[in-house]
Amino acid sequence: MEPFTTFDASGYPLGGIQLFQGTAQAQVAGLLAPCQVMRVAAGQPVLEPREKGACLYIVLRGALSVAHADPHAGQADAATKILPGECAGELSVLDGEASSDHIHALQDSDVLVIPADTLWKLVDESNGVARNLLRLLSFRIRAANAQLRRRQKVGEFYRQLSMVDGLTGLHNRAWLNDNLPTIVDNAHMANNPMALIMIDIDRFKQFNDEHGHVTGDHALQIAAKAIRACLRPSDFAARFGGEELLVILPSSNQKTALLVAQRLRDSVRQAVVFSEMHRPLPHITASFGVAVLESGQNAEELVSAADAALYRAKDDGRDRVAL
Ligand code: GH3
Ligand code: MG
Ligand code: MG
Repeated sequence: MEPFTTFDASGYPLGGIQLFQGTAQAQVAGLLAPCQVMRVAAGQPVLEPREKGACLYIVLRGALSVAHADPHAGQADAATKILPGECAGELSVLDGEASSDHIHALQDSDVLVIPADTLWKLVDESNGVARNLLRLLSFRIRAANAQLRRRQKVGEFYRQLSMVDGLTGLHNRAWLNDNLPTIVDNAHMANNPMALIMIDIDRFKQFNDEHGHVTGDHALQIAAKAIRACLRPSDFAARFGGEELLVILPSSNQKTALLVAQRLRDSVRQAVVFSEMHRPLPHITASFGVAVLESGQNAEELVSAADAALYRAKDDGRDRVAL
C-alpha cells in the first residue's frame, strides 16, 4: 500500500470537513491540490513528513487518536479521538512550536496532510477557512479550560484526602501542621481565647495485647467517633499520632474547655467496643490534658502545654482531665 497519494478533492466532499464548511469549495480545492493523503494502518503512528515541518492533519476516513503529553507530569494524558472531517495538529502549525502530542491511527485511515504554508495560504485567501479555524481554536480553548478545571477539582479532592486520617476519619498530622498555627495566630489577632485538649487512650498497649490489633483499631475508631459526636461544628479533632488525638476549641476559655473535656471523657468511657466475636468488651478510657492559649504563645508551645497536662492526668491515675 502506498503511504502517500495525491489529494483528489473530487473523491471527498469538502463540505464534510469542519475546516472547509461554508467556504468557496472550488477555491479551497485548488489550494489543496498539491497536498497529499497519508494512508495509516490501524495502530501505526502518524509521522510528520520531515521536509514539511508542522502539518495539519484532517481525517478523511478512519479515526485517529491524539494523546496529549503533559510536559509537567512527563506522561501521556487522556487521548482525544479524531473522526472523519475533524483535524489535529493545528496548534503546532499556528504557533510553529513542535507538538509533543502523539498521534496514531485507531483504524486504517486516510489523512489529508496540510503543510503550514498551505494552511496560511488558505487563511489568507478564504475568509471561510479563517473563520472556521477561529471557531475551532475557541472550541479547543474551552475544552482545555474545562480539562484544567477538572484537574483542579481532582487535585483539590486528593489534597483534602491527604489531610484525613485513614483509620479514624479525623484530620491528620499534616492537616494540623498546616492549620493549627493559623488558628492560633487568628486567636491572638482577634484577642479571642482558644484551647486544646490532648487525648491519649489509657493502657492501649494492654488492650491490643489482650484483644488483638484489629480490635484495637476498631476501638480507636469508636473513640474518635465518640469524641467527634461531642464537638461543635466550629471545633476540630485530629489524630496527633498513634492513639493520641488532639481537639482544638477555637473561642473557648478554660472553663468551657474543662467542661468539654469532661464530656469527652464520659463519651469515650461509655462507648461500646465489640470483640471480633461481636462480644462487648470492657470499656476503654482515655486521659485528657487541657491547655488554654497564653499571650504570646505559639502553636508548638500550646501543644506542649496540652501534652504536659495530659501527663499530669496519666500520673494522677488516668481516665481523667487535667490542666
Ligand atoms: P498509657 O495509659 O500510659 O497511655 O498506656 P499505653 O499502653 O496506651 O501507652 P503506650 O504508649 O505504651 O502504648 C501505646 C499503644 O498504642 C501501643 C501501640 O501499639 C498502640 N497503638 C498506637 N497506634 C495504634 C493503632 O493505630 N492501632 C492500634 N491497634 N494500636 C495502636
Ligand atoms: Mg500514647
Ligand atoms: Mg496510651
